[in-house]
Amino acid sequence: MSYRSRLLLYVGMLMVLLVGMMTLSFKAARDVIAGTTSAYLSYIADHQGAMLAKQRHALSREAALLAAEAHLRASLRDGLHDRRQEHGVLEDSVRRYGMPGDIALVLSATGEILLGAPQRKLRQALRAIALTDDARSFYLPAGGDVLMVALHPVLASGRRLGTVLVGRYMDQRWLTGEQSVSSDYLLFFASQGRILRSSNPRYQGASIDSAGRHLEYEDDRFRLREISYQPGLPGQVLPGLWFGINESATARLLAGYEYWLLFFAVLGSLAVALVGWLVLRNFSRPMSALMLITRQMMNGELPVMKRSHAKSEMDQLVNRFADVLDSLRREQAKLEMANRKLQETAITDSLTGLYNRRYLQEVAPGLFAQVVRDDRYLTAVLIDLDHFKAINDSWGHLGGDAVLVHFAQLLQHNSRANDFLFRIGGEEFLILNVAENPADSVALAEKFRELVSCSPASYQGSTIPLTVSIGVSCCYGKSGDISLSVLMRAADKSLYQAKSSGRNTVVLHSSCRQKAVQRPTGRPRITVIEGGNSGKRRT
Ligand code: GH3
Ligand code: MG
Ligand code: MG
Repeated sequence: MSYRSRLLLYVGMLMVLLVGMMTLSFKAARDVIAGTTSAYLSYIADHQGAMLAKQRHALSREAALLAAEAHLRASLRDGLHDRRQEHGVLEDSVRRYGMPGDIALVLSATGEILLGAPQRKLRQALRAIALTDDARSFYLPAGGDVLMVALHPVLASGRRLGTVLVGRYMDQRWLTGEQSVSSDYLLFFASQGRILRSSNPRYQGASIDSAGRHLEYEDDRFRLREISYQPGLPGQVLPGLWFGINESATARLLAGYEYWLLFFAVLGSLAVALVGWLVLRNFSRPMSALMLITRQMMNGELPVMKRSHAKSEMDQLVNRFADVLDSLRREQAKLEMANRKLQETAITDSLTGLYNRRYLQEVAPGLFAQVVRDDRYLTAVLIDLDHFKAINDSWGHLGGDAVLVHFAQLLQHNSRANDFLFRIGGEEFLILNVAENPADSVALAEKFRELVSCSPASYQGSTIPLTVSIGVSCCYGKSGDISLSVLMRAADKSLYQAKSSGRNTVVLHSSCRQKAVQRPTGRPRITVIEGGNSGKRRT
């Protein structure tokens, strides 16, 4: 995987991590809030249930106290003939004791209402109450409301004279008293999914989702919990008592945070993407440049690198690399120079500075290819100094060397630009030339022979006269027999003839005869010989 795609992957992972962390922390916060709300709701519901039980017990106590009231007992014991008087006594007893709850009734042993005037609905409900010798408390549905009831028998000598009933209406007033009108909390009775009475009358008649325990009303949303209140009477269905907490404010708050979460997620992602882009730009680009350069270096190139003015580590690295490339280029130039010198030395004769025999082997194939391709002649002018041994003998080896150098200079100064000059032996030299007409080389050979004979070398203040014998051979590109050995053999043969014919002469091999040989002016000493080793000579 490339560095660039790996970086893109990392940036992507960072973005996912960032957005994931933000979303997760938001969800965690939301769950904590929901959990806390739920726990609080349960707590309140339980608390409310306990409070209700307490109220019921308090009502039972009130009923017991009223039932124990002496006047009331006496009045019931003494017979109930005079209703008017009886009423007076009972009312007196209740008044004396203080009115407990919302209603107080005194019932006879048979269930006849002796005191108090209950509403019709309550009167119907009272029919369901079985009067016993035991004290009891319970809840009773009463016309849309619920009545908390406490019964206590009025006993005398183990005989029940009557029953005291004390009741408290759990109506609109009670609900509001328990849970003041508030937009945050709600206490209500509901039956068949509809609110009957509520601490906040605004929600009266609203539908609730009792399974999901939610109330949605206009913009408000309540989370609900049912408060258990027991007991009721057999066959009597009590409406459910519910407590609710308004979640709308929290939901709005969370929606606000959700908006900010989205904003920061986008901002964070953009920041990560920007950082990724900057890294790509500041790191990946120079990296790619370095990669390209190294690839070029592997292909044997040493390209010039643009230096950067920035101060970052990456740019410094690029600059260092450019320095390395510079010094490599310098070293390469030195190496090339040394190599060139070595090559020159390898192909150059150290004494005369002309090409040596090794170079002859190297250059010959190219020259032959050229004459074949361009339909030209390759001429070989083989020159040998006459009686050089005698010069050595007379002037010593150094004198002989000086003569060789002098001769090489004559050769260099009087040859043509496209002549290849070789020293192929001790005092043996060769001129190779690609020519359209071999006559030019023949003319050069003769001119040169003459020049040498009238250009003596000087050594230690003395002049040393020189002559040369020259053999010339040619090779025509179109002819089949073309090779260095053939060419040199022919030149050698001509040279041999030149030596045999008294030296200081030019002998032309028959291979050069195809083209007209221009006779040079003056007294030419050119002999043309036939091919083969016959040694036959024609003048
Ligand atoms: P000819 O006319 O037949 O060519 O006779 P020659 O004396 O020139 O030829 P020969 O082959 O008999 O002698 C060549 C001499 O050249 C012999 C050798 O010592 C000498 N020689 C070869 N190389 C060098 C060199 O580098 N320097 C010097 N000073 N002499 C050399
Ligand atoms: Mg020789
Ligand atoms: Mg010689």
